[in-house]
Amino acid sequence: MIKGPFQTVIVGGGISGLATAHYLLKAGVTPLLLLEAAPYIGGKMRTRYLEGFIIEEGPNGFLDNKPHTLKMVEELGLDGELCPASPQSEKRYIFARRRLRPIPLSLPGFFLSPLLSPWGKARLMTEYFVKPAPPEADESLTQFATRRIGREALEALLDPMVAGVYAGNPDRVSLKSTFPTIYELEQRYGGLIKGMLALRREGRAQGGPSGPGGRLTSFRKGVSQLIEALGREIGERLVTRAQVISILKEEKGYLLETTVGAIRTRSLVLSTPAYGAGNILTSIAPELARELLKIPYAPISVVALVYKKEDTMRFPPNGFGFLVPRKAGLSILGCLWDSSIFPNRAPEGKVLLRVMIGGDRQPALAMESPEKLVGIARKDLALTMRISASPLLVQVFQHEKGIPQYVVGHSTRLKEIEKHLKGLPGLFLNSNAYRGIGLNDCVANSIETSNRVSEFLKDYK
Ligand SMILES: Cc1cc2nc3c(=O)[nH]c(=O)nc-3n(C[C@H](O)[C@H](O)[C@H](O)COP(=O)(O)OP(=O)(O)OC[C@H]3O[C@@H](n4cnc5c(N)ncnc54)[C@H](O)[C@@H]3O)c2cc1C
Repeated sequence: MIKGPFQTVIVGGGISGLATAHYLLKAGVTPLLLLEAAPYIGGKMRTRYLEGFIIEEGPNGFLDNKPHTLKMVEELGLDGELCPASPQSEKRYIFARRRLRPIPLSLPGFFLSPLLSPWGKARLMTEYFVKPAPPEADESLTQFATRRIGREALEALLDPMVAGVYAGNPDRVSLKSTFPTIYELEQRYGGLIKGMLALRREGRAQGGPSGPGGRLTSFRKGVSQLIEALGREIGERLVTRAQVISILKEEKGYLLETTVGAIRTRSLVLSTPAYGAGNILTSIAPELARELLKIPYAPISVVALVYKKEDTMRFPPNGFGFLVPRKAGLSILGCLWDSSIFPNRAPEGKVLLRVMIGGDRQPALAMESPEKLVGIARKDLALTMRISASPLLVQVFQHEKGIPQYVVGHSTRLKEIEKHLKGLPGLFLNSNAYRGIGLNDCVANSIETSNRVSEFLKDYK
């Protein structure tokens, strides 16, 4: 029997909800309750331990170039368990002209690389002279890239990146909302080359041609270690198998209808996906619910395959992995070489690969049967890494509503959502559906949300 009323209830036990609870507890907000519909916490973050392998269902880790997750890890006393990616995982590949080709790590390397034709490279360099778009423009990645760097660079470099990282489609995702750093470089410095030169002068340059700055970082036993530490801290204030169905507005807060009974609270944080929040809010705020339900999600499937090391020797997976551009005509989005990134993920002599399938590029493919997905993964691994052997072990993880897509119009939709929230004091939305998808973004947004909840409760007294 859950007692109440609570100062705050958090709905959703993914990283966004758990981190919000961590910071609210730190701020002394009690009584607090976290409700999770599933029998386990973590949402998309879940590690499986199988026959000596450490296999991630979703995220592999976070980048260490932002302080938020690292700081929270320290606060949880978990810093001794951190596991940075191996130095060899600096090497990343793109499948181009029927071969895996390294993504150049330096400017001279870029000029020598066969990833772009001489014309494509020349077109990219003219970026210096392209005028910036007006700040209010909300372009798709395709519109932005064809205007600034040319179609060839879009297809060869940006398209595989957006598919690999966001399961996104460059024709649909908003540059401003999905890649705010690139948008700001153009707005602030007039262009990407100008911006990168200025940042270098200021000593603030980050990352390089191979991907976002920072090193991928996980935990000795995978990302579930972070989830478990947060779960332990929240303790009995966390209830699983507790789904929130709808809410009612009351004079002093909200009344939640849940599968574990009715619960009263002064403030409420919805850390569910946007469509989940939309369903919960339909009866008390139909217009807000409509906006939330419009945020699209891309399905994605992860096929984990284990091979004997000697069966992968025709293209040894030493590096981070590879991405596949749409125009290459393969079925997979890319492949992460997990046991090269984190050597403890597989026992000696074995190799663990994770293939990504579907996304907004081929949404229907992600929801094919597990057998078909394994077949697709094996066919494309034969074409890319020339692996013909049968895998020793396979696991398929399907995320039907995998990754929210910040499509063109996302920033306007967020403003609409904020407007509607003004009529619901004490109700907050915080998940990866709004202002950042990476784990660092989720933690940063959770810090901000917990500050806003604390402020609200202070004023309320
Ligand atoms: C395949 C894949 C790979 C990824 N790789 C990376 C990576 O390497 N690095 C990185 O930084 N990010 C990565 N991401 C993104 C990252 O995993 C997510 O952005 C993040 O985990 C989302 O956390 P969240 O808490 O916002 O949402 P979720 O994890 O979706 O959690 C939401 C929770 O709410 C619960 N819930 C829903 N409705 C209700 C309800 N009515 N009542 C109670 N509970 C409810 C759900 O059960 C769920 O547990 C990846 C994502 C995927 C899918």
